[in-house]
Amino acid sequence: MAFKLPELPYSYDALEPHIDARTMEIHHGKHHNGYTTKLNSAIEGTDLDGKSIESILGDLNAVPDNIRTAVRNNGGGFYNHKLFWQLMKGDGGGAPTHDVGTAITDTFGSYDEFKAKFKAAGTGQFGSGWGWLIVNGNTGKLEITSTANQDNPISQGHKPILGVDVWEHAYYLHYQNRRGDYLDHFFEVINWDFVNELYTA
Ligand code: MN
Repeated sequence: MAFKLPELPYSYDALEPHIDARTMEIHHGKHHNGYTTKLNSAIEGTDLDGKSIESILGDLNAVPDNIRTAVRNNGGGFYNHKLFWQLMKGDGGGAPTHDVGTAITDTFGSYDEFKAKFKAAGTGQFGSGWGWLIVNGNTGKLEITSTANQDNPISQGHKPILGVDVWEHAYYLHYQNRRGDYLDHFFEVINWDFVNELYTA
């Protein structure tokens, strides 16, 4: 069964003024849709058809050589954006709550320290990619990382619980080259309820 572009869980303008409606419309309707369509073309008629995206990305070595790059890039794009939309909401932001809030304070010292490190991961990712807060699959501890392109921590055995898209298409219309400003505003739309769901799952 083919993968389907998920609906946004809110309207295009729900994240304004932090993320503008036009950016959301193009990001979801063009970019995310493009990854979804290309993923489906790549896996059509293969053994991967019908598998979950998590199991595909969790074992890229099992993907046939001739479609591995396409699946890594477009499967990653499909999964990352599906996650990304859910990680934000209109009245989000503020200091993290629930168990994940406690874990962030314990790990990074304070929410401000966490923000500084998470922002540095996003601004420091050269070119296109993602900044992440993960639960390390080996140690079980929270860590901040980044990946290039559409790579996802689940391909490295980790559990992503927060991610931010730092491709220019995520911010260029409104913020132009100011990735740091975009990241400052991202903190204002984080859906900590959902982050906590992922953390405690
Ligand atoms: Mn994107």
